[in-house]
Amino acid sequence: MNTSDYIKTLFVQEDEVLKSVSASLAKNNMPQISVRGEAAKLLYLLVKISGAKNILEIGSLGGYSSIWLARALPDNGKLTSLELEPAYVEVAQNNVKKAGLEKKVMYIVGEARESLSRLISSGEKFDFFFIDADKENYDTYLELAIQCAAPGAIIAADNVLWDGKVLDPQNDEELTEAIRKFNEKAARDSRLESLLVPIGDGLLVSRVK
Ligand code: SAM
Repeated sequence: MNTSDYIKTLFVQEDEVLKSVSASLAKNNMPQISVRGEAAKLLYLLVKISGAKNILEIGSLGGYSSIWLARALPDNGKLTSLELEPAYVEVAQNNVKKAGLEKKVMYIVGEARESLSRLISSGEKFDFFFIDADKENYDTYLELAIQCAAPGAIIAADNVLWDGKVLDPQNDEELTEAIRKFNEKAARDSRLESLLVPIGDGLLVSRVK
């Protein structure tokens, strides 16, 4: 058994709804790239510990992370999730409905950068962000998230170890470089306090000062 399996077996309990998300992805020819269970549990705990009430998720896929995040919200909390593919949103909405969370979760279809710009213009402030869409835009999403973050907001991002590729000095692939740039921004930006947590595929956790 490896570390990830040990952690998952002991600490990550998925009910039937969460277990069925993977089958719904397969049925709809969608990629199996939901956040890993142990990172999802950490996100869930961060929402609960921080008392976040207004979450913005960037990258919905089939709603696996939406369900974990929305389950951590208080009764009056809400989650807005941005997704490029309308067909994915249908699957996510269906899964969120199965979880009985449809009143708390709203999906916005379109390019996340454009949706984020509109949200910034609206003046809405979020207290928790989960960045999990196209890696080449991670640093842009971080910048835009800071612009609509309430003071003390948490910004989390998945895949920041990129299967270990960020550690390999020989790897100069475009997406690896994009994630390195994102990690360096998160580490050095004076508006943030950040840490890379080596769970799942690497979870960046930042707090907006
Ligand atoms: N957070 C999801 C979960 O754990 O269940 C997984 C998200 S998956 C890794 C990334 C998602 O980002 C895909 O559904 C993809 O269609 C979406 N995406 C990619 N580029 C995007 C863009 N420019 N704007 C909005 N969504 C995008």
